[in-house]
Amino acid sequence: MQKILFGLFAHPDDEAFGPVATLLNEVRAGTELHLVVLTGGENGTNPDNLPNLGETRLQEWRAAGALIGAASMHHFGYVDGTLGNKDHVAITDRFMELVTQTVAGRSDVDIEFMSLDLNGYTGHIDHIVAARSACLAFYRLREQGLPMSRVRLATLPRSIIPALNTGFVYMEPGKTAEQIDETVDGRDLKDDILEIMRQHRTQRGDYDYTVKTQGENLGLNYFVIKN
Ligand SMILES: [Zn+2]
Repeated sequence: MQKILFGLFAHPDDEAFGPVATLLNEVRAGTELHLVVLTGGENGTNPDNLPNLGETRLQEWRAAGALIGAASMHHFGYVDGTLGNKDHVAITDRFMELVTQTVAGRSDVDIEFMSLDLNGYTGHIDHIVAARSACLAFYRLREQGLPMSRVRLATLPRSIIPALNTGFVYMEPGKTAEQIDETVDGRDLKDDILEIMRQHRTQRGDYDYTVKTQGENLGLNYFVIKN
């Protein structure tokens, strides 16, 4: 049985600053990983004032994906910060097509999806659209008879996000222990995780923030599971 994992994310650094430890564990256990990014992240922070931030961020994403060990990487070309309902429907269709093509003619496979929390993780609407598209594609593909096992949605625990945050957009407090379905401990992968995070040089502010807020817990990933 070949496990095939599709990660659907909105921005080029979502996996690196999110569930990268779990992705590394999966690839090292023999899982075939395919990564999708919806946008080039061109409206993210731009400390070097690059005129073509999106292109640079996609290069960073490809370097990070190579270190993770992705079998394939796909950029869907949406505009960072603009995703909405119509995009959700179109992204779902395109993602379903990618999954269907990838597994065509293959038997004895097990298909799993990964994205960020349906609450947007940081509240970002792009993340919500990515997560909802992963879930919608998952259930539609299952209805079509594909061997879909589960969707894992990376989330943040209450210990990291203790309270409601209104600084950026509406951001809910982190999940309680009862709301978390699975915890993956990849703390032993710390050096690899840092190296992957460092590929996102333009987002080094988020690197510093992640290292500071997660500290010794870097590599602990938390998931809500849909199945
Ligand atoms: Zn993001």
